[in-house]
Amino acid sequence: MTLKLYNTLSGQLEEFKPISPSEVRLFVCGPTVYDLDHLGHAKTYTQFDLIARTLRYLGYNVRYIQNITDIDDKIIVRAREKNVEPSILAREYEKYHVEDMEKLGNTSVDKYARATDYISQIISQVERLVAKDMAYKISDGYYFDVSKFSDYGKLSGRNSLKPGDAISRIDENPEKRNPRDFCLWKFKKENEPSWPSSLGEGRPGWHIEDTAITEAEFGPQYDMHGGAMDLIFPHHEAEIAQMESISGRKPFVKYWLHAGFLNIQSEKMSKSLGNFLTIRQVLEQIVSPISIRYLFLLSHYRTPANFSFEALEAAENALGKLSKAVSTWQVDTAGIVDKAYKAKFVEKLENDFNIPQALALVWTLLKDKEVTPENKKTTILDFDKVLGLGL
Ligand SMILES: [Zn+2]
Repeated sequence: MTLKLYNTLSGQLEEFKPISPSEVRLFVCGPTVYDLDHLGHAKTYTQFDLIARTLRYLGYNVRYIQNITDIDDKIIVRAREKNVEPSILAREYEKYHVEDMEKLGNTSVDKYARATDYISQIISQVERLVAKDMAYKISDGYYFDVSKFSDYGKLSGRNSLKPGDAISRIDENPEKRNPRDFCLWKFKKENEPSWPSSLGEGRPGWHIEDTAITEAEFGPQYDMHGGAMDLIFPHHEAEIAQMESISGRKPFVKYWLHAGFLNIQSEKMSKSLGNFLTIRQVLEQIVSPISIRYLFLLSHYRTPANFSFEALEAAENALGKLSKAVSTWQVDTAGIVDKAYKAKFVEKLENDFNIPQALALVWTLLKDKEVTPENKKTTILDFDKVLGLGL
């Protein structure tokens, strides 16, 4: 069997063939560090953690990078409100992000890459776009000229904004050639952080951060890019436009993976809707942080999940039962991984990372009288390398 995964770029289930057999390069859009992560973030990052763990379990050597947007309008505004330096505020919330992820068992990221550590790469990318006449200068910065990139829209199937698209920067300037054009480099404003450059002193646009980081870390093309669904347009579309224009190579990313939203009372949980719960608010109300993870294991990463405290309580109970069963098996001898169950487990994983079915298999195994307690325990602990429940 081989791994099959749904690729947003083709709109189809595809067989996974890494670009290089020696390493699978995975990049996932990380947080803008101006506030605490909410449960919607927890869902996305847990599900990509499961994907990274699955790839490793299947034998791939994965290098997983998540970016940290540590310079942004939202950070500057929040820092002003709190009367601190934007960089200090960003470091504080980055620390909270990493701590929260660890509590949820999300430990598979190899590197958190801060945008501000890649400023020279960002400047170089904008310079190359200008040299290729793909970018132009107006009064407040440099913009990408979308009309010059004929493939614009190939990921999302559209080229204009809809309600619900994640927009981190309002790149509105009436001097733009086309309303869809997005900012690459913002010129310095009074009392804002900025960096000197040949383009003029300023700071990066949002979309260019990711392509600068991945070009530096992975090169111009890589295997997998993930994020929540609201990043498909314009963010990921803009990344493709930037990097394919710079390198002239296609595709920039071979497989695009997008996670479904977390809903609360049938509505997407988001900062902009104000209906969110932070991870920390929820952790105050439960005993085991991993039960939040267990809850996310119950839905396939591409589908939306519903959050309620009742569902969380049910997850916590189920996790408690599972942990108890595993820890109470008094086994003296080490067992072996049950071959038949392992084959089924791999089959579920290879079917577009079907974690809910893989988890259901654990329960089937638990009740199976044909398998000895030693082997059950060893098998479930082996499966937990993917599930990350800390059994
Ligand atoms: Zn991103």
